[in-house]
Parts: sequence; C-alpha cells; structure tokens
Amino acid sequence: MKGKPEDGLLISPIRNGTVIDHIAAGEGLPVLRILGITGRTTEELSVATNVESRQMGKKDIVKIENRELVKEEVDRISLIAPKASINIIREYRVVQKIGVEIPSEVVGVIRCPNPACISNANEPIRSLFACQRRGYRCRYCDTMITRDVGSYIV
Ligand SMILES: [Zn+2]
Repeated sequence: MKGKPEDGLLISPIRNGTVIDHIAAGEGLPVLRILGITGRTTEELSVATNVESRQMGKKDIVKIENRELVKEEVDRISLIAPKASINIIREYRVVQKIGVEIPSEVVGVIRCPNPACISNANEPIRSLFACQRRGYRCRYCDTMITRDVGSYIV
C-alpha cells in the first residue's frame, strides 16, 4: 500500500489524469485559475485544501481527471506553487513524476505592472519575464515583481 491515509481518505484515486500535490495551503484554487480551469470548464476536479502534511503542516492537493499537464502548464504552476509535485496517472498508476522547477523565463504568463511598458501597449508581443532569485524581471522595461506574483498572472 502506498500513500498516507490523509491523502487517500479525502480524495479518491483517479484513473487517468494529473495529481498536483504539495501545494501550499490556500494556493489550490489559484493553481486551478492559472491552468485556466474555472467553474465553467468540464474537467472532473477534486480539490482538497488544508490537508494535514507532515512536511508542510497544511497543504492543498488538486486532482484533474483525463488531463495530463504539459510543460508550459507546469511552468505556470511554479510561479505560485514552487514546492508542488505533479504526478501523471494512467490506469491508476503514476507513470510520470514531475518536480516543479522555476524556469529561467516565462513568456506570456505574467502581466507587467508598469503601464508604460511596451508589453502593455497594443503591440504584437508577449510579456517576457526573467525568473531571478529576488523575483521576476520584465525583459522590456526591467520592472521587478518581487511578491504576490499570482495577482499578475494573465
Ligand atoms: Zn515591463
């Protein structure tokens, strides 16, 4: 038997899809939002919040049935849940474990807070941020986002 009882009891296993574990408590719903999952989408979802975790105290877990996340989506998750672990499930088995890594840059994911930035003009360019230790730096105007990056996600 694998898994800790606190994982298994709250959310039943899924047959195919993605499990995102070790999300900081309270960030489960923002994770769904940056994946474009809203109340109107058709995915079968389970979200558990404030689950007891030996490592983290409390954590959130998200399960999405019949959808396997791709790298760009994992990069987005890294912005608000850098400790998350992502398991791809097929026929109830974990076929791939993806550790979330902070990418070197993110394209088209964060909106620049500087209203004068060219990425906020009606130019056909996508936002581009370099991920640095202190935060995210706009490649066009050097504006830094050092906290609450979730509120700038497009
Ligand atoms: Zn900018």
